[in-house]
Amino acid sequence: MRGKVALITGSTSGIGLTIATELARQGADVLLHGLGPHEKALHDLSLLGPRIAYHPADLRCPNQIQELVEFCSSQLGPIDILVNNAGIQFVAPVEQFPTHQWDDVLAVNLSAPFHITRLTLPSMRLRNWGRIINIASVHGLVASPLKSAYVAAKHGLVGFTKAVALETASTNVTVNAICPGWVLTPLVQKQIDDRVSKRNISPADAAMELLVEKQPSLQFVTPQQIADLVVFLCSPHANSIRGAAWNIDGGWLAQ
Ligand code: NAD
Repeated sequence: MRGKVALITGSTSGIGLTIATELARQGADVLLHGLGPHEKALHDLSLLGPRIAYHPADLRCPNQIQELVEFCSSQLGPIDILVNNAGIQFVAPVEQFPTHQWDDVLAVNLSAPFHITRLTLPSMRLRNWGRIINIASVHGLVASPLKSAYVAAKHGLVGFTKAVALETASTNVTVNAICPGWVLTPLVQKQIDDRVSKRNISPADAAMELLVEKQPSLQFVTPQQIADLVVFLCSPHANSIRGAAWNIDGGWLAQ
């Protein structure tokens, strides 16, 4: 991947950070992005060799998204690999779902990938190579209660992936989605912590409850397994994989 420029949104933490680290390890120049502390991630990735930069755009704001894409092009060059990874979750019954939380979940999980794609695709077309990988979820393919906004956004992201894959089908730009099951990251840790406080059970029991409900492997998917799939989708072996919604879920969807 030497010479390729990769933007991974939400790469200051969790799955995105592991994807960014793996792409940097493979030689890509990486734009780290996300909210919150980023100094350690920036430092660690810089040790891997390629060029690394960081931008803190809030993905709820289309004008900041434009700044993010322009910053990447000016610092590292045009984007070859776009991983739309940033995502947020909010859990509540639909009648009690705070409307601003609905708007935020839709903005970060669905509208941001649209904006970054529309701003990035023209230069990929010009150079006739690109990879757009949308980190959706099993919740892009099936639902769970209390997650209406997340399920709606992730189903939307899978549909968006297919539409853009068709629009680019005769080019060397491929567009795919990855649909993970449970991965132990801050996003899921929050749901475990909620169970611990509501039900007075241990964190280990709360984590096992999540797995027993949905994931027959009874093991969390690891961020590294997702990063390895991203690397595969970036490789020439994956040239014909287009518009896929590739589940990596310990058997969640096989039931
Ligand atoms: P995480 O909470 O560890 O990381 C989320 C990242 O998104 C962070 O870098 C954060 O700064 C960034 N972010 C959040 N809101 C933002 C905003 N408004 N503007 C800019 N950046 C923002 O989450 P994660 O578990 O690593 O999730 C990464 C992706 O994987 C998400 O799209 C999530 O929906 C998806 N996913 C996660 C799981 C799981 O079990 N963890 C399962 C399926 C899908």
